[in-house]
Amino acid sequence: MSDKRIKGCPNDKCDDYKKIKYKAEDRFCKSCGTELIFVCSKCWTPLAGDDPKKKICAKCEAKREDRKEKLIQTGKRAGQAVASLAAVAPAVLKLITKVLPTNKK
Ligand SMILES: [Zn+2]
Ligand SMILES: [Zn+2]
Repeated sequence: MSDKRIKGCPNDKCDDYKKIKYKAEDRFCKSCGTELIFVCSKCWTPLAGDDPKKKICAKCEAKREDRKEKLIQTGKRAGQAVASLAAVAPAVLKLITKVLPTNKK
């Protein structure tokens, strides 16, 4: 599996600092020559572990999980709304069919 992590220049005096995202195979900053480090692709925090699958830091990972959880919750709520609507719909339909014939006369 290819390394999808990004590298960044760790030199905060460098023009590329927190600006240019380098590939995993790049080794040195093109602007200042500092050796690149793996960073979080969201917040530029240097990555601690050496897992090629971990593109983002633990903090961003937690945030993403949070959002996923919220999305699931929202989805559940939407599902409930649809379900309650479906429960009401037959009653509404009955009402409409009752009203329609009298309207035709
Ligand atoms: Zn640099
Ligand atoms: Zn991060």
